[in-house]
Amino acid sequence: MADSRELRSRATIHAGGEWLAASSGATREILDPADASPFAVVAEGDEKDTDLAVAAARRAFDAGDWPHTPVAERAALLRRVAGLLVRDRETLGLLESRDAGKTVEEGRVDIDCVADAFRYFADLVAGEAPGRVVDAGSPDIHSVVVHEPVGVCAMITPWNYPLLQASWKIAPALAAGNTFVIKPSEITPMTTVALIDLLVEAGLPTGVANIVTGPGHTVGARLAEHPDVDLVSFTGGLISGTKVAQAAAVTVKKVALELGGKNPNVVFADACETEEGFDTAVDQALNAAFIHSGQVCSAGGRLIVEESVRERFVAELARRAQKIRLGRGTEDGVECGPLVSEQQRAKTEDFVASALAEGAELRCGGKRPEPSPRRPGSGYFYEPTVLDHCHREMRVVREEVFGPVLTVETFRTEDEAVALANDTEYGLAGAVWTADAGRARRVAGRLRHGTVWINDFHPYLPQAEWGGFGKSGVGRELGPAGLAEYRESKHVYQNLAPKPVRWFSG
Ligand code: NAD
Repeated sequence: MADSRELRSRATIHAGGEWLAASSGATREILDPADASPFAVVAEGDEKDTDLAVAAARRAFDAGDWPHTPVAERAALLRRVAGLLVRDRETLGLLESRDAGKTVEEGRVDIDCVADAFRYFADLVAGEAPGRVVDAGSPDIHSVVVHEPVGVCAMITPWNYPLLQASWKIAPALAAGNTFVIKPSEITPMTTVALIDLLVEAGLPTGVANIVTGPGHTVGARLAEHPDVDLVSFTGGLISGTKVAQAAAVTVKKVALELGGKNPNVVFADACETEEGFDTAVDQALNAAFIHSGQVCSAGGRLIVEESVRERFVAELARRAQKIRLGRGTEDGVECGPLVSEQQRAKTEDFVASALAEGAELRCGGKRPEPSPRRPGSGYFYEPTVLDHCHREMRVVREEVFGPVLTVETFRTEDEAVALANDTEYGLAGAVWTADAGRARRVAGRLRHGTVWINDFHPYLPQAEWGGFGKSGVGRELGPAGLAEYRESKHVYQNLAPKPVRWFSG
């Protein structure tokens, strides 16, 4: 596997069953965020390459077999893909680690979740009824609503969970019978390129799966506006997502947007009454904010803690945050990798500087770590940072940082906690920690976020919808709604005893 990929390392555009270099001949080096060294070279596609890939996907949809392939066969193919992902787990996990800077163990977990997504959508389509019979109120009418694929789907994905985000789009799109063109993030394309190989190996017909590696403002923008694309599904930041929605509106495409978050982690004092409860809530707050260096759309970067336990909670959190072992994701014993790019670190530094200028108190972090053998000075490392005494007027509390920065706010009453947690233009995810079951359900019911965890943080299930309220997006991934995104409903109304209606008398 690795050999063939290395051989065509500059031909990472897959259109109509062929691996191609960029038509312009342009290439891009992919950097390892742990030391900024290039470890791969990919094709830097542009609008022309995008048109080629869309044309291939269009042909495969309009004239190919995939949209009409029996559901059982489509499901069997998805299960074969899951098997291949399991087979290549080590290689892909390592590749994801080098691409995105995460630890290899995180990379392996990602690949397991990718395989789960393929299995889930295989089972979902295989087990469902092909349509819904509607009671038309007459024995002479047979009325049925069936699902059909949308057509050519464009998919645009971010760099933090490159293959996982791709799989949440590719698996349901294929299950529903669509063809697609995917554009991974230009800085982390490697595992998505590898997945296309696995789809081909699993037997997907030519032209169904296409990929164009390249930048957002050329390849991504062209996909969003392309008249032959029927749907665009985007995961990324609010600014790019807004541009995608605007471009897609011109040709009235279906649009799905999975955008950012500013996710509250609400801790009531009663959750900390026992030593075990306190330890669990602190431990999970640490995980919520700092896993993958906070580069998670659902990162719990806003700790909203009851005033009476604030000092004890934040002191323990900061003590443990300072002990997180930072380093190259491929090194044994490393718990947290670098940020993905210099740009992402600079953005994080800017947020911390603005918070301090606005009156936040630095409890730990707030700087680049000292270089060490497992943490080269050329890597994009940044220390886990806890900012105390934050408030809703601060930019760091309102905007998504996407780095290892936790802000602390406090409350005295349940109403105040809910108001703070909902005081965001986003609405992706949030958590509530309490020992009071009634309060847990009450608060969960009032949070305006697409996922609410009670006494937990971060888990998701492929069978449960993922997506956001407010500016966190439009539509849902995963679950039955995640499949519905890739379908059109068609009502077929059959008159078994047609007669003239005589509306017109002449
Ligand atoms: P980004 O918006 O910079 O880029 C995302 C993708 O969009 C990339 O492939 C990029 O090349 C492309 N793009 C950029 N400009 C474009 C344009 N004008 N037209 C079309 N495509 C364009 O985001 P990012 O920095 O790669 O990822 C981080 C963001 O992703 C965060 O905001 C994070 O919250 C979000 N995210 C959301 C979820 C979710 O499930 N809601 C999951 C992961 C990441």
